[in-house]
Amino acid sequence: MLKDERFGKVTFTRRDALKIAGAAGVMAALPWSGIPKAEAAAPALKGPQAGGYYRFTIGDVEAVVISDGGLSFQPIQPTWAPEASKEELEGMLRSAFLPTDRLNLDVNTLLLNIGGELILVDSGAGGLFGPSLGKMRGRLSAAGVEPAQVTGVVLTHAHGDHFGGLLDGDGKPVFPNATYFASKTEVDFWTGSDPDFSKLRIPKDRQEQSLAAAKKYLAAIKGRLTPVMPGKKIVEGLEVVDAPGHTPGHIALLVSSGKEALLNAADTIHHHVLMFAHPDWTSAFDVDPKLGAESRRKILDRAGADGLRILGYHLPFPGIGHVRTVKGGGFEWLPEPWKWTS
Ligand SMILES: [Zn+2]
Repeated sequence: MLKDERFGKVTFTRRDALKIAGAAGVMAALPWSGIPKAEAAAPALKGPQAGGYYRFTIGDVEAVVISDGGLSFQPIQPTWAPEASKEELEGMLRSAFLPTDRLNLDVNTLLLNIGGELILVDSGAGGLFGPSLGKMRGRLSAAGVEPAQVTGVVLTHAHGDHFGGLLDGDGKPVFPNATYFASKTEVDFWTGSDPDFSKLRIPKDRQEQSLAAAKKYLAAIKGRLTPVMPGKKIVEGLEVVDAPGHTPGHIALLVSSGKEALLNAADTIHHHVLMFAHPDWTSAFDVDPKLGAESRRKILDRAGADGLRILGYHLPFPGIGHVRTVKGGGFEWLPEPWKWTS
């Protein structure tokens, strides 16, 4: 086929004409008109998403992000970013092509094959938050791992969307052979006699529910719980990183192997647009919002400066990516492209 540069018209050569004629002959031979009506009806494409797990590596460490599902908050304020004006908040969401009437968060648990151990970081919500969550258990099996094979579970903090998957519907441990790890500060706070909720902005009845659930689940794993401190390693290559504020003993986890590393930032950063652009915007679930914002900035600064790969528990699945520092003191989330080969 030739393009006539002078007139911008397309002209056909004799060879093109023969090709087109040949293709038409093939098309005529296809049975488009021969399918009975009933068989031709298109199948419905609606339905739940499948898969829900993503395999990747950090040096020699094998890892799988296992989605527990997703959460939707409606309305957005005052639970999220109460510091923002409605106009600014909605403008940011609109410019990111996101709905302005709700905030959708994913829930990404992380399974690691590290130092001869099979360690799960956070367990999802189990049955605590309704049918849009609690998918971790089924997806773990789908990824080829049974709960009895899990040797360790790390809780980044004692919120229901992180510990709910530890017990089944009958209150029995889902991971019968696991040792549990959580920060000493966190365990002491929730199991103490008078936890300070003076800066927590969720309603009083929700505070009480949250405390009762934390006490119940921490009591259930008490016999196998090892309290850990920031700076310490759970196993070689898995270091506890201090990230307080969202809860008093909230921790991040640095996974490292050879020259590669991944910082599991857990709930330091909940939303991939709002909190990267405005690390000072907080959530009503923060036990100490100001301290939480300081931890968020510290982790984003570190990730931005060092090119550190991070994982966010509530970022869009699988929640792995990098952080870019932008002018004006904010940050930008750069999700890592899905890798089909290792
Ligand atoms: Zn959470």
